[in-house]
Amino acid sequence: MRPDILNPLFAETQSLEGVGPKLMKPLGKLGLERVKDIAYHLPDRFVTRRPIADLDEGAEGEQVIVALTPTEHRASRSARGPFRVLAQDGAGNICAITYFGRASYTAKKLLPVGERRWVAGRLDRYGDMLQIVHPDHVESESAANLGRLNEPVYRLSEGLTQPRVAGLVEQALERLPELPEWIEPGQLERAGWPNWRDALRLSHRNENARARDRLAYDELLANSLALLLVKADSRRRKGQALVGDGRLRVQLALPFEMTGAQKRSIAEIEGDMAQEAPMLRLLQGDVGAGKTVVALAAMLIAVEAGQQAALLAPTEILARQHYETLRTMAAPTGAEVALLTGRAKGREREGLLMGLLDGSIDIIVGTHSLFQDSVAYKDLGLVVIDEQHRFGVAQRLALAAKGKRSPHTLAMTATPIPRSLTLAQYGEMDVSRLDELPPGRQAIDTRVVAQDRMDDVVAGVARHLASGQQAYWVCPMVRDNESDDIAAAEARFAALRERFGDAVVMVHGQLAPEVKDANMERFASGEAMLLVATTVIEVGVDVPAATLMVIEQAERFGLAQLHQLRGRVGRGSEKSVCLLVRGAELSETGRKRLALMRETQDGFRIAEEDLELRGGGELLGTRQSGEAAFSIADLDQVQRLLPAAHADARILIDRDGGLTSARGEAARILLYLFERDWGVQLLRGG
Ligand code: ADP
Ligand code: MG
Repeated sequence: MRPDILNPLFAETQSLEGVGPKLMKPLGKLGLERVKDIAYHLPDRFVTRRPIADLDEGAEGEQVIVALTPTEHRASRSARGPFRVLAQDGAGNICAITYFGRASYTAKKLLPVGERRWVAGRLDRYGDMLQIVHPDHVESESAANLGRLNEPVYRLSEGLTQPRVAGLVEQALERLPELPEWIEPGQLERAGWPNWRDALRLSHRNENARARDRLAYDELLANSLALLLVKADSRRRKGQALVGDGRLRVQLALPFEMTGAQKRSIAEIEGDMAQEAPMLRLLQGDVGAGKTVVALAAMLIAVEAGQQAALLAPTEILARQHYETLRTMAAPTGAEVALLTGRAKGREREGLLMGLLDGSIDIIVGTHSLFQDSVAYKDLGLVVIDEQHRFGVAQRLALAAKGKRSPHTLAMTATPIPRSLTLAQYGEMDVSRLDELPPGRQAIDTRVVAQDRMDDVVAGVARHLASGQQAYWVCPMVRDNESDDIAAAEARFAALRERFGDAVVMVHGQLAPEVKDANMERFASGEAMLLVATTVIEVGVDVPAATLMVIEQAERFGLAQLHQLRGRVGRGSEKSVCLLVRGAELSETGRKRLALMRETQDGFRIAEEDLELRGGGELLGTRQSGEAAFSIADLDQVQRLLPAAHADARILIDRDGGLTSARGEAARILLYLFERDWGVQLLRGG
């Protein structure tokens, strides 16, 4: 149960004054659902604006306040184009005030023709005209209200304005309770950090590195604590030593020799499973490194020892694919392999549940439905988690540990993670690395192509398909709005379909699962030649005959993600090509990042260098790349503060594993605050 003291923070945003159903949607888009989310919606930056008498005084790129009189409303010809208000200053200079999205109504209301308004925003140039895009303020009175020093600038979504958000933040900050201190007093003093409530308030007032660091530290501490609680819990639980006699493994008729890295990893896993303490191991290996067969070997060890094994996949598509692969590979061993997903219903589902309960199923593959309460196992000895989301790992470990005895756990990831961040993401798991690819892999010929050469790209795809080979076409998720992205992908699909006809299929997140699977199936079977997809194909999908990949707006993706996407090709013996199509405006860093993709195929190197290139300024991953691990701490803060947070968490758990001291109680509050409460739940379970 969440401590009462946090209740005001977890109240819905609707409890704030002025928030009705209309604001819920734009707030929801930003993930602002509760009062605490608003309080933690920290400014992207602060601006100080300069009042200017006329436009000539302002410099390009400068934040200004200027009095302007609208002369004309100009809608754009295309429905999606911007709406412009032309306006004049006192000296007769013209400036466009530009609104994107469906904002013409707002624009007309705020800026009626012929009436003078004070406009605050950034002065830019558009062609040979001056312009202010989405002004932060438009007021009819004086400049006085607009000239606030250090005004916070918040991330917005359609339907929100800066003053609106600032007003909600004010309200949320007023409701902050006083919380007991969870940071070790010495640490607090050394760093000169404010207490939690002050830190939040200060972070909204001005650029305050100490306050921001404290908030980041809180998040890192919460995460470390939760991971350590999982670890401690699994240590406390009794597992079971599983020693296989090898009788099933010798019957595996593999068409290849295992790599040294595979053999080493299997030996490490075998060693762990032979211990009574439950294994907590992470298998890290690039796409195509051959993790599946390592997982299979581990699962057969469990079966040889008379127990069951479960493989948990992040998506239905992947679960199916794993099931097919494992069933085929395991066939000669006689082990019974089955598939359980949310879609199994009625008789079929009952049969599966029965088989798990009476032990006739040895290996079960599925999605999270494997761990629903209604699913009971005769003797689950090993859980393999084929994982893409980092924090999910620890969370699911907690899930898997529901029983009296903990199963051994093997988590697998294809996301290459820089060494300095492994700790943050996986806590203290033991790690096996598949750092050697199976022999005979061809290098993927990677090229960067400018967007305006799209015709050439399509022509290249045409030649490729004509030669009888398959291809992927990836459309990015780039905007805040998922349906806009889907619309863009649909439009691309329609265009490609016009050109290539029935040979094109599409998968994306908003299609019904049956449709998605059917389309995937058509592609996997070779019936369809071109698969247009949003990033849902990112993980695992294995179609060796596909040898060309086109990635649109490649600069928008995280490098780890590009790397994973590219790993979908180059799986067969044919030479493979990856075309990274880049947008018109590419930053220097963007250029370097794409160049790195061209240069190397070593995922671990890509991860390390990407970290260098992006530097500390950028958030750890971005939402669209699905990499975001922390919501408050940025990359620089993770690197600076994580070691201390982790050490601090460890000392606390060593001294007070039950979190019962005064500081322990405070730490519980912290865990709930950051919604790592699954960590707390383990305390009671133990
Ligand atoms: P991952 O899950 O790590 O991305 P997979 O387990 O799907 O990789 O393996 C990719 C492909 O490589 C599969 O077709 C698999 O059969 C093959 N493979 C795995 N290990 C070897 C090996 N040692 N030698 C040759 N091929 C291998
Ligand atoms: Mg895999």
